[in-house]
Amino acid sequence: PLILGIESSCDDTAAALVRGREVLSSVVLGQAELHAAFGGVVPEIAARAHAEKLDLAVEEALSRGGVTLSGIDAIAVTAGPGLIGGVLSGVMLAKGLALGLGTPLIGVNHLAGHALTPRLTDGLAYPYLMLLVSGGHCQFLIVRGAQAFSRLGGTIDDAPGEAFDKAARLLALPQPGGPSVEREAATGDPARFAFPRPLLDREGCDFSFSGLKTALLRARDAIVAEKGGLTRADRADLCAGFQAAVCDVIAEKTRRALTLYLSEHPAEPALAVAGGVAANTAIRGALTELCAERDLRFTAPPLALCTDNAAMIAYAGGELFEAGAGDDMTLAARPRWPLDQGAAPMLGSGR
Ligand code: ATP
Ligand code: FE
Repeated sequence: PLILGIESSCDDTAAALVRGREVLSSVVLGQAELHAAFGGVVPEIAARAHAEKLDLAVEEALSRGGVTLSGIDAIAVTAGPGLIGGVLSGVMLAKGLALGLGTPLIGVNHLAGHALTPRLTDGLAYPYLMLLVSGGHCQFLIVRGAQAFSRLGGTIDDAPGEAFDKAARLLALPQPGGPSVEREAATGDPARFAFPRPLLDREGCDFSFSGLKTALLRARDAIVAEKGGLTRADRADLCAGFQAAVCDVIAEKTRRALTLYLSEHPAEPALAVAGGVAANTAIRGALTELCAERDLRFTAPPLALCTDNAAMIAYAGGELFEAGAGDDMTLAARPRWPLDQGAAPMLGSGR
């Protein structure tokens, strides 16, 4: 079936056409310039921009895919979790289209979209261990099916993307912070500043990233107090130290999650990573190495499918559609929607 996917849960207005694992088109209209002056995404501005640009994204996806609205078999839309104004805009557009065209409507969990991406890009079979690292989330999931997730652990405070974004703000680097910090880190010395490795002393695979941000703030203020400002090299060294700490913590926690996962699924040794932070080359490298050591299959989607996009929503919607799931006009936009609550919330109509 040909699925139209719609995504508007954060600051990207996106639409895509996907048939099975084939992406016919994927349009992402970013809003970075609208939020740049505020040092972060402003929900009200994001919601207004989504409302303005969603039609355009859908039209563009259709024209790039060479398809008309009547060729679509189902409409998949992010119904949460996310900034509620944006999610609402997407859900309302999807409902209008579904009603007008008489096509099925499928509400998709944004996180399920990220978590199923390795199936779209690499055809990965269930089950697999997923490390979902994004702007708002950080968790290990055993992915057993399109609606079957078990959470093994996650962050107790900030998400890693959020930590990168805050780090960039502290160093007056542009948003989103991840790519800025990575760019600076490339020329820096990761050993010049001692960053903590939070929660490594604690058992299990939970994360904490807020302490790293505090360590960065202290190190920055110490340099400023001593020399009156930061040089290019100071900034690069701070970024390199910060990124190395995030990387080490993610690698060690992933080692632990893998041990847990493999004890349950020794015959399916696969790790996949998704979410915006999975675009980070150092983190990808550390995970690749770790899987090579253990002879595990490692899947990391291409960068454009790591960050927010509608192809992942269309793909996940397609799996749900084929499984007989669907929603009606009572589909609700949900600011919060944990993945591991089982099938009921995804199949139901958002009550
Ligand atoms: P969520 O998916 O949890 O709702 P989100 O949609 O905002 O959050 P994504 O679009 O998946 O998150 O990812 C965006 C985040 O990824 C930002 O915080 C950004 O800084 C981070 N990011 C992007 N590229 C990189 C990179 N190269 N290194 C580290 N972080 C990165
Ligand atoms: Fe996302």
